[in-house]
This record gives sequence, structure tokens and C-alpha cells, in this order.
Amino acid sequence: MWKGNKISKQNISRVGQYSKQVFDVAIIGGGINGAGIALDLALRGVKTILVEKKDFGWYATSASTKLIHGGLRYLEYFELALVRESLAERERLLSNAPHLVHPLKLNVPVFKHSKRPAWMVRAGLTLYDILSYDKSLPNHSYVNNSKKNRSKKLIEPALNPDGLSAICSYYDCQVPFPERLATELVLGAEEAGAKVLNYCEVIDLDKGNGNHCHILEVKDMLSGDAHTIQARKVINAGGPFVDMVNVSMGEAIGRKMGGTKGSHLLIKKFEGGPKEAIYVEARQDYRPYFIIPWLDYYLVGTTDIFYDGDMDAVHATSEEIKYLLNELNFLIPGKSFSEKDVVYTYSGIRPLLYEPGKKERSVTRKHIILDHEKTTGAKGVYSIIGGKLTTYRSLAEETGDLICKHLNMKSKCPTRVFKLPGARMTAEIRSKITDLQATHHIADVTIAHLIEFYGSRALNVLANIGDRPELSKLINPEHPEIYAEIAYAVEVEHARSLTDIFFRRTDLGFYEDGSTGSAGLQILQLISSLLGWTPEQSEVKYAALLETMSRQGYQHQVEAPKQSEELVLA
Ligand SMILES: Cc1cc2nc3c(=O)[nH]c(=O)nc-3n(C[C@H](O)[C@H](O)[C@H](O)COP(=O)(O)OP(=O)(O)OC[C@H]3O[C@@H](n4cnc5c(N)ncnc54)[C@H](O)[C@@H]3O)c2cc1C
Repeated sequence: MWKGNKISKQNISRVGQYSKQVFDVAIIGGGINGAGIALDLALRGVKTILVEKKDFGWYATSASTKLIHGGLRYLEYFELALVRESLAERERLLSNAPHLVHPLKLNVPVFKHSKRPAWMVRAGLTLYDILSYDKSLPNHSYVNNSKKNRSKKLIEPALNPDGLSAICSYYDCQVPFPERLATELVLGAEEAGAKVLNYCEVIDLDKGNGNHCHILEVKDMLSGDAHTIQARKVINAGGPFVDMVNVSMGEAIGRKMGGTKGSHLLIKKFEGGPKEAIYVEARQDYRPYFIIPWLDYYLVGTTDIFYDGDMDAVHATSEEIKYLLNELNFLIPGKSFSEKDVVYTYSGIRPLLYEPGKKERSVTRKHIILDHEKTTGAKGVYSIIGGKLTTYRSLAEETGDLICKHLNMKSKCPTRVFKLPGARMTAEIRSKITDLQATHHIADVTIAHLIEFYGSRALNVLANIGDRPELSKLINPEHPEIYAEIAYAVEVEHARSLTDIFFRRTDLGFYEDGSTGSAGLQILQLISSLLGWTPEQSEVKYAALLETMSRQGYQHQVEAPKQSEELVLA
């Protein structure tokens, strides 16, 4: 029996409660960019509401390669300003979100057949070092594939030695859970006074007379109810959906989005596999791709293909899987990887500027903030075109500056040195965590996991247990996660579905055994009790989780609830 049914009671006027207020700004889209803009504006004191049709960070943000990077590749297209901006943001993230963003060493093997010889890679890396002159990470390094270097283990033994001439190494950063970065931005925005709504779709816009406020028609995707939201400025941060959102709002600004699909494979780590990340040129088309250690897997990707299809049906095709496996089998010989070795795939659409005639890889990764007044005449309506994970903060700063100017507000960007909510660890917080660890008899390994995952907010997760000691139990004796994380995801972090919880608030969905093993039913019961789901509803939600997993090629399943077992609701 689980205690707690807070959310279902709050849901009554979840969206409707905001209908009578007038916001300075409404942001459409709760990916990394919409969430980053919400944080920037809220910290400047702008009355802000963020509206997301599904879950925060569910689309392009969660489909990324999980890198916070300068974009070494962009140097080939002379995008020096973008590389410099990205490298400066990388450094800021290391300081403002150290629990979410970690340094990552990347090795670039150069083969005799490579289109980019070692001198060229080194020249690029030298420029990369110059453009990141103020970094805290080491400069690049280089080793020849000599006998001496191999015997000193300076050359990764898993790599194909055939034609290998050298390895160049450099540092970028990894954000192992970009979804959690998006969540923290949302929580930070909320903490600063913004209102945030997931599962709320914007379906139309009444542009008013331009001087007063716009009225957004929205649909609460949980209840199906229609509501309105009033705001003086409207920002379309729909990522790859930007054009669709503009069409639904009656904003004829024309095609702006020329998104490309990228797919990744997850292969289980194996004995003798690479210890560090690899960034290497594909033999088939000379495109660089990554092999990155991530959790118990190697993340292999990505592809880059123009995409005009159904945005909800994006998946890795067998051609993409074959392409990546083919490259992997050359680079790491002797394993003969096949589709059977692919545990999981995921794909997404990059929100790139529409640049007809250009090849996928040469389309700019820069962002643009489009003021609709200049095209359709709609005053106070803006679209965000493009934008990487890495540069979400600088994009938000630029947007915040523009919006404040148009609102006649004087303000200075607050986010350059703003520590995200989980980045505020102090000796006092550590000591409180230790006290709660003792109170709830929690193992060290779980505390280490909570701190790694939530940073200083590990304390909030533990404090939220309150008088529910059953939440301090391990979900699976093999893993460090506890039930309190699920309660926290639902009660504080706005999780509303099983996929939100399994893939975007916790890492439970990424374990090969579904993490839950026989605890699947317990988890479902807890979530059902927290969200007030009926047994029928929980069956439907469970089916949706399995559908997501199977679409992404999971080879395992969370244990299904048995029809005969009654779900105990608190
Ligand atoms: C394969 C791939 C690899 C990548 N790798 C990297 C990387 O390693 N590093 C990096 O820096 N960048 C990377 N990127 C780019 C980066 O992930 C994206 O540019 C970034 O996440 C875009 O964020 P966004 O908020 O603009 O879009 P999204 O995350 O897609 O968010 C847009 C949101 O708008 C919402 N929305 C749409 N319509 C409506 C509506 N009508 N009402 C309400 N909400 C709506 C959607 O539901 C969605 O959540 C990668 C992208 C891809 C696809």
C-alpha cells in the first residue's frame, strides 16, 4: 500500500487556473530551448508561462548524442563564431551544472584511407584549442600508431590496427541525461516564478490587436479540456515542430525548418571494448560518427538524413542500423556485430534552418530568433529556428534580451553564472543528506547515485520521503534506485506518464532488465496511487510504455502486471 495522491487532486484546474491571468510571455515548447528561455525570463522578473504538449525534453532534446561540444566538425564549414560560442557555453555548463555535465575524452583514430589526414585533424584541434583558450579542460594530444606507443597502451587495443596511422585526442563534455538538464531548467524557472505546464498543447492563437495581449487556445492533454492563456508576447520554441506550430497559429511565415533525422544504436559494453569515446570518420561517406561509453552501453551514432515524414513515427531504419553496424565492424574487428546485438535504438529530428540545395552535413547549426512582425506583421510573436543542446543558454540570453527590450523592461542576463537547482551543494546540505540517510537506513551506494543524478537536490528527494518509509526501499536489489525517486518525479518534477518516469526523470528504463525485474507491478501501483489512476488507466499507460520500448527496439520488457492481480490504490 503506497501513500500519497497529491497530483490527482491538483489536476482539477491544472491548466484552467491560469486562464484569467495575463502573462508577459507564453513559451510554446518545453524542450531544452523553451525551458532555457523560461528560466532566463523568469529570473529577469518577466511573468512567464511555459506550455509543452507532451513531456519536457521528450523530443529532439532526448534524441541527441548527449554531448556538450564545440562542434569540431563545424570548423570545416568555417563556423568559427558558433564553435567559440559553443565552447564558452561548455565551460559555463561545467561550472553551473557540474552534476549533469562531465568532461569526456574523445579519441580520433586516423587511418591511411581517411579523407582527413592526421595533419588536418591536428590543425583542426589546434584551432579548437585556440577557440577554447579560457577552458578548464586539457588541450589536445597526438600519438603515432608505433610499436612503442602500442606497447605502452597509448593506442586503444580494441581498434582495427589495419591502416591505423595515429590517434588524436581532445576533450569535450557529456550530459548523460539531457532530459534531466531540461527538467532542471524547468524547475529553476518554476522556482523563479514561472508557471510550467506539460501535456498541454497549443492549438491556436488569437493575435488580438497587437497592442494588448494574445490569446492562446490550449488543450489539456490529460483531461482533454480546452482552455485559453493570455500573454503579451508569444515565443514558438517548438524545435522541429516550429513550422507546424506556426501553421496552427495561422502565422504564414513560410517554411523555416529543414530538419534532419539522426539515429543512434545502443550496444552492450563487452570485454576488451573501448575504454574511452571514439570520434571517427565513416568509410562509406566520410561523415564522422561517435562511439561513446554510456551507462552499460556503447552509444553508436549518428546518421544525418533530411526528414519530411511523420514526426511521431521517427525510428532507426534497417538501412541506418546496417550503416552504423558496418562501420562498427570495421573499427572494432572480430565481434561481427549484427542487429541481434542492438539493445536499443533512438532517433530524433534536428531542428535545422531550411537551406534548400545544401547537403545535410553542411546545413548550419546556428540558431535564429525570428520576429514575426517583420514577415506577417504579427506584433509580439517570435519563432526560434535551430539551436543545439550546447548553446541553449546563449540562445535564451539572446531571446531574453530581445523580449525585455520589446517589453520596455531594463534587465541584465542572469544565467551566465546561475547555478542550476542541483548545483548548489554545500557542507550543510551534505550533512542533512547524511542525517536523512541514517533516518531512512539508506545504503551508501544509493546516496552516491542520488548525488550523481540529482546533485544537491538529492536532499529534496530524501526529504520528500517524509513519513513514507516504504519509499526508501530499493526498487531492485541489483541497482541503487529507490522508490522515493518515483514519488519525487511525480510529486515535484511533473512526471505524468510511465515513459516520463522511466526515461526522462530516472534511468530505470535504460537497464537491460528494465531495472525493475519483479518490482514492475509495485512501481505501477505506486505511480497509479500517486497519480490517481484507475486499474484500467494503469493498464493503458503500461501498454503505452511497452509500445515506446518496442518502437525503439528494446529487447527486454518491464514485467507486465497480471490481469488477475488487483492494483492496490492508497
Ligand atoms: C540525432 C541528434 C543528435 C544531436 N546531438 C546533439 C549533441 O550531441 N549536442 C548538442 O548540443 N545538440 C545535439 N543535437 C541538437 C539538439 O538535441 C537539439 O537542437 C535541441 O535539443 C533542440 O531543442 P528544442 O527545445 O529546440 O526542441 P525539442 O527538444 O524538440 O523541443 C520542442 C518541444 O516543442 C513541443 N511542441 C511542439 N508543438 C507544440 C505545441 N503545439 N504546443 C506545445 N508544445 C509543443 C514539443 O513537444 C517539444 O517537446 C542533436 C539532435 C539530434 C536529433
